[in-house]
Amino acid sequence: MADPLRVLTSPVRVTGGLSLAQLVTLVSADAVLGHARAAGRTVEWIAGVLTGDLASQLAVERELAREGLDRAALGRDDFVDRARAIEEADRIAATEMLGRLGIDLDLASGALDADAVAVAARTAFVRLYEAGLLTRGERVVNTCPRCATVVDDVDAAAGTATADAYTVRLPLATGATLDVEVTAVELLGGAVAVAVPPGNVPLDAVEIPTTGRAVPVITDEDRAEAAFVTPAHDGADLELARRHGLAPIMVLDGAGTVVEPGPLEGQGRYAARATAIDLLAAEGAIGTARTVEESVLRCRRCGTVLVPRLGRHWFLPMADLEVLAADAVRQDVVSVLPPPWSDELVAAAGQRGDWCLSHQVWAGQPVPVATCLDCGQAAVSVEPAGSCGKCMGTLVPDDDVLDARFVGAVWPLALAGWPADEDGPALLAPTTVLLVAPTGLVLWAVRMAALGLRLCGAAPFACVTVHPAVDPFMYLEGVPEGGGPDDTAVHDALVTAGLDLDWAAATAAAILAR
Ligand SMILES: [Zn+2]
Ligand SMILES: [Zn+2]
Repeated sequence: MADPLRVLTSPVRVTGGLSLAQLVTLVSADAVLGHARAAGRTVEWIAGVLTGDLASQLAVERELAREGLDRAALGRDDFVDRARAIEEADRIAATEMLGRLGIDLDLASGALDADAVAVAARTAFVRLYEAGLLTRGERVVNTCPRCATVVDDVDAAAGTATADAYTVRLPLATGATLDVEVTAVELLGGAVAVAVPPGNVPLDAVEIPTTGRAVPVITDEDRAEAAFVTPAHDGADLELARRHGLAPIMVLDGAGTVVEPGPLEGQGRYAARATAIDLLAAEGAIGTARTVEESVLRCRRCGTVLVPRLGRHWFLPMADLEVLAADAVRQDVVSVLPPPWSDELVAAAGQRGDWCLSHQVWAGQPVPVATCLDCGQAAVSVEPAGSCGKCMGTLVPDDDVLDARFVGAVWPLALAGWPADEDGPALLAPTTVLLVAPTGLVLWAVRMAALGLRLCGAAPFACVTVHPAVDPFMYLEGVPEGGGPDDTAVHDALVTAGLDLDWAAATAAAILAR
């Protein structure tokens, strides 16, 4: 008799209720499993469930707000307890909801807060660090001022916002002015230079109005117009400033409040913008505003406009790792169904930049990093070390947590017994299938395969299957995005919405025929 078929579904978020998009993944898996069972195969379904992510954080904060509390008043340990309690309750509610749809699934079986998953995630972090792949660096990353954490690109929604662009007039020694247009006027205090396009008359320095500081004028090939260089809040500016040996000046803290000493200190970014405009006007250094459409990124969880901010974080370069996954697909070590998705995966792999693994969500899994109070040396170890290996000083664990998606990407390895069983993932891979939504191909399948190949020489599955894209919102008018489904009508709607049952039968047949 054939070994049981293991079907993993990419981690879903149950906090606040399953979204319709995630329900589509689970309904798809259920359909495939049904066909495989009907063909006589024993099947085990393990559904990943995200824990300790931004959604949990927001759920706890909403609960606290109703009680007139906030997380600072509660303290971190109690906050984590509350997050776990909410996740558990929502997991039970989601399991019951699935049961009403006729889907028998134990959502506790794949929870990412299991001890084995935590150990695997810490081990993965430590080994990537020891291999020299994972490094800590000072870079500009997007931060949500409301959630007070780094926000991954995946959790950032691109959009536009209307803003007033002001012309700031910088007086020159010749009596003329250099005009620079700017919207984020509150960041002027963080300007360390003015960049101008090539071909401008060379200038030495200009004074930034309201600050009394003189900054150099530098030529930037990539610039079409003069602009302030604010390296603490712009990644490209940081590169430029580093090339010119200019030190960044931090203007906004993680909560979006001005920390730069001066008249704006202590104000929120938008209040500070209004104050800065008044101050510039008082100096006669500002022209009229024109209304512009700005590109902005918003936190997907809370809608707040993100602040790019310089910080010290852990980065994992993904391009080379993703190529490992693409090679495994090219060599048919990992097959992708239906076949067109195979080309899609190979084309997409290697396109991503560095992955910021350290976030600041309170209920997440702590990074396996401690810092020596005496010499500042970082200690990276699976089990916390007692004292500094360099000076025997006192080690204090870092406050940062792992990106919940990194934990999710290591989760299939943990399910296969890694790291205690180094060969576990390779042994189980031939009978393991990962089922993902189209958006999960790069987000989950590539990352999971890449980490498996790098850490234990094998992807934790031999087959990835992508279910058809379904936009249930087209068929469910009146259900707000993010609203949890709670009715069998939703199931029917998903089917009529084009969840192709022929696809499920064909996919099951293809999986069993491998
Ligand atoms: Zn947020
Ligand atoms: Zn030390």
